[in-house]
Amino acid sequence: MREIDPTEVKCNLQGNRIVDLAFMSKNMNCTMCNTRLDLQYIEQETIKGAASIFSIRYHYCLLVNTLKTGNEYTNPVTGKSVFAINTKLALTAIHSGVGETHITKFFNVLDLPTVDSHTFKTHERIIGPIVEAVAKESFTEATAMERLLTVESIEELKKLLPEELQEGYLIVNVDNNGSSIVRVFASFDMGWGQRGNGHTYDSLNGYCALIGLKTGKVLDYCTRNRKCHYCDSELYTGKKVLHDCRKNFKGSALMYFQFN
Ligand SMILES: [Zn+2]
Ligand SMILES: [Zn+2]
Repeated sequence: MREIDPTEVKCNLQGNRIVDLAFMSKNMNCTMCNTRLDLQYIEQETIKGAASIFSIRYHYCLLVNTLKTGNEYTNPVTGKSVFAINTKLALTAIHSGVGETHITKFFNVLDLPTVDSHTFKTHERIIGPIVEAVAKESFTEATAMERLLTVESIEELKKLLPEELQEGYLIVNVDNNGSSIVRVFASFDMGWGQRGNGHTYDSLNGYCALIGLKTGKVLDYCTRNRKCHYCDSELYTGKKVLHDCRKNFKGSALMYFQFN
């Protein structure tokens, strides 16, 4: 055993990293001699999106230890271990309404290692269905609330209708057991992912939402997608790939506007 001369090995990593402080602090002991590791002896870094795996040689026992910047979990889609921070990053992008290129710009300015598109997509595929499930739950709740508020404000709301529709239109009794259909007031809004200038509309994605009058909440939404990476690769390779295809529209983005 020998002590490394601190001038001999220098950590030459640059820039910033996102770290889980509690997680790292808990794992900073050498697995052989249990002595605290020193970040200045990082010899190598493997970048995994927004996370890193450092190889640190402890300067007394000379064992190379592995130190990760955050915790991992098993990807339910592939069964492989992935870093939680990368899933949180995909969720951040969805929540802020930005894409991978915007995240890359943020990371470049912050001097953080950039996340490649494959990693980003992998995590988007993990978090996407969860976001959709939560959104669905929220629509069910909002619709129930909209229905309740409509029934409560029926007198005020029916005055908004033409005279011939004021009776028996908003609440339709279905049977004698008290079941009824309640029609609610809602507005509809839509847009596409890319700005149009009045002449060219070539966005690949369009989104729309139904917003209830009384709650001001989104009651439902839809998307129209003109492109699918897997379907495109099938065209080139001729190989069918089983995938969660979201392509549901053909034609121009302007047609999408007219279609809705
Ligand atoms: Zn050691
Ligand atoms: Zn597809």
